[in-house]
Amino acid sequence: MRDYDVIVVGGRPAGATLAARLGQAGLRVLLLERATMPSLPGASSPIIYASTMRLLDEIGAEETAYAHNTPKIRRMLNATPGMQTEMRIPRLDGRDYAYAIDRARFDAALWNTASQTVEARDGVAVTDVLRDGQRVAGVVTSAGEQITADVVIGADGRFSLIARKVGAAEYDVHDQYPTSIYYAYWRGAKPFAEPTALAFGQEFGVGYLVMDSADDTKVIAIEGRTELLEPEPGKANQFYESLIRQHAFLAEIIDGAERITEVRGMRRIGNLYRQAGGAGWALVGDAYHQKDPIDGQGLYDAVFTAKQLAEAILEWKHGAKLWGEALAAYDAAVRRHTYPMYSSTLERVRTSLYEPAPAWAQTPVRWLLQDPLTMERFGLMLTRQIDADRVMTPTLMLGALLRGPLRDLSRFLDKESKR
Ligand SMILES: Cc1cc2nc3c(=O)[nH]c(=O)nc-3n(C[C@H](O)[C@H](O)[C@H](O)COP(=O)(O)OP(=O)(O)OC[C@H]3O[C@@H](n4cnc5c(N)ncnc54)[C@H](O)[C@@H]3O)c2cc1C
Repeated sequence: MRDYDVIVVGGRPAGATLAARLGQAGLRVLLLERATMPSLPGASSPIIYASTMRLLDEIGAEETAYAHNTPKIRRMLNATPGMQTEMRIPRLDGRDYAYAIDRARFDAALWNTASQTVEARDGVAVTDVLRDGQRVAGVVTSAGEQITADVVIGADGRFSLIARKVGAAEYDVHDQYPTSIYYAYWRGAKPFAEPTALAFGQEFGVGYLVMDSADDTKVIAIEGRTELLEPEPGKANQFYESLIRQHAFLAEIIDGAERITEVRGMRRIGNLYRQAGGAGWALVGDAYHQKDPIDGQGLYDAVFTAKQLAEAILEWKHGAKLWGEALAAYDAAVRRHTYPMYSSTLERVRTSLYEPAPAWAQTPVRWLLQDPLTMERFGLMLTRQIDADRVMTPTLMLGALLRGPLRDLSRFLDKESKR
């Protein structure tokens, strides 16, 4: 008899929601987290959509707790030289908004939800796995404790110790367009007319994102090609502020505001899938599949993979499938649902930060991006209501390319009539 049915290593979105699902189904689960909760994760400047909230509803996580005092963002603006677009967040299950959440508050709410049905211990780092022959059979903690379980789950993020200890293979690794992000939270910044996520870029290769967040703060993030965002060691704060203050628009937004957090960030953000699992172990969340945050889909994927893995574990535990079959079904379900979005995100990194559209294509691209139907489809993709490979159909594209010149003409006539 092992100590637990399942040990989950890592107690943030993937680990906490997986543990909650398994605990609610009656399994004996131990959830271990190295950090003390509540606390901020390593790096994440996150927006969440209704697609994520719907999965959180399923485990009884309270929106009033994870999004306490956080404004509902209903519009996303995008401004680059010569082009502005506006997208209203599409409705899903009655929610027509997103949140730029406070990750410490969000993660704590999920941790508390899990704690109701599982044993959750924070401040405990796992340092190794225990083996029973070829099979993983438990973990060793930094205090030297040895704890056994039928299966050990690595929900321990991008740099997963569990993945390293079991030698998990990596697939679909994309590192040819490396990006970095730096961000901080500000209080007292100039308010927008309504809660907003505003993305804009001026020089190609670097983009800025300003979002209304919890407790009257704004998060301001800079994402760009890694080679363009290289602060000197120990100078991230100065580097970030000097970039922000260079922009008249951003400088105006933060005029009189106070930066209330250190600048956090990540260099050379990884894009990959790992092996889903093996004898006595499995991976979930970023440990399993990680990607560039340009589309803000990491949290959805973390709680989505947690749901799929919970189903696989329960099928195995209830004898409906062998462990290998359950793992294969988990991997297939996740790939089917996440791969189109992954490809689309990688493509967006390439076209928005690395390889601009050639001059002849810029006007048609503008027609496409400013087309209300295209924007609506894009919103449905971000809220995971349609797959990324179904956003544009030939008919939609043709329609957008016909409507674009008509919009330009109407704008021109409007301007002339006001002269
Ligand atoms: C700069 C940046 C911006 C982002 N912005 C967005 C966004 O806008 N929207 C979005 O949806 N996603 C965003 N993401 C992605 C999102 O942050 C991740 O996808 C999400 O945090 C993954 O959750 P997770 O639970 O898998 O891993 P994590 O949140 O990384 O949690 C892993 C946990 O495991 C713990 N751990 C690690 N090793 C051990 C150990 N040995 N023992 C015990 N515990 C351990 C860690 O302490 C950590 O708490 C962003 C990511 C980055 C880097």
